[in-house]
Amino acid sequence: MTQSELDRILENDPYHIPRKKPREDEIRLFLREVGYHCPLCGKELQSRAQPKPSHKQFQIAHIYPNRPTLQQYAVLYGLERLGKTSEDFENKIALCLSCHDKQDFKTTKNDYEALLSIKKNYLQKSALHDAVDELHLENDLNEIVNQICKKPTSELAVLNMNPVRVADKFEDEDAPILSKVTGYVIQYYTFVRDLFREKDGKEGFVFNALCLEMKAAFLKMDAISKDKEEVFNQLSSLIKRKTASSNQTACEIVAAFFVQNCEVFNEIPR
Ligand SMILES: [Zn+2]
Repeated sequence: MTQSELDRILENDPYHIPRKKPREDEIRLFLREVGYHCPLCGKELQSRAQPKPSHKQFQIAHIYPNRPTLQQYAVLYGLERLGKTSEDFENKIALCLSCHDKQDFKTTKNDYEALLSIKKNYLQKSALHDAVDELHLENDLNEIVNQICKKPTSELAVLNMNPVRVADKFEDEDAPILSKVTGYVIQYYTFVRDLFREKDGKEGFVFNALCLEMKAAFLKMDAISKDKEEVFNQLSSLIKRKTASSNQTACEIVAAFFVQNCEVFNEIPR
């Protein structure tokens, strides 16, 4: 293929539009997406202590090039591309300067696919995050989380009923998360249920409404990811954010309660 043939192909491909410089607010999103560290080498891209250094430590890179060279076009031919155009958020990622250099200078199929899959993971995480973020749990759960923090384990009435229904909601491959959730349910289910019973019907709190909301959020997340551990972690961190609790375990206990109580994970048919 000659350069002019490639030029013609690119002109006729709606994926290729003129370069767009990311705005400041978009740059913040890109940095937040990668946790302020280069996703390829782990180097810090922006120090939280000094957010505006004299030299930027990062660049916003195209995953699929905005204007591929003949060599890049051949190497990447037929591979998946993210976004509707090369300038979409989906096709860009924050990288440190030296990783960006390498990426641009010599693109290999492996490097491209690795970066593509890193970006897909970030996109999936943020979709999960959005699916639960619209829940307004702060008032409903603040008190519950606080009470769990205060309760000595020795005073818990361990669940007598058979909690194995939890197990029906997980495949074998989910085993570590299954034992974690089961453990919380056995120890805390009764206690958390009683806290909710105590609150139900008071100050506008309707327990069933909360359960429905929770279930709706899970159905949405389930459509995005089948990774139950990821989904469980997203729900726990949502509870943590909304209640501004510093106790991770208490938030996981509440999340486990909803797994058991609200049928949030569909049971796997046997
Ligand atoms: Zn790097």
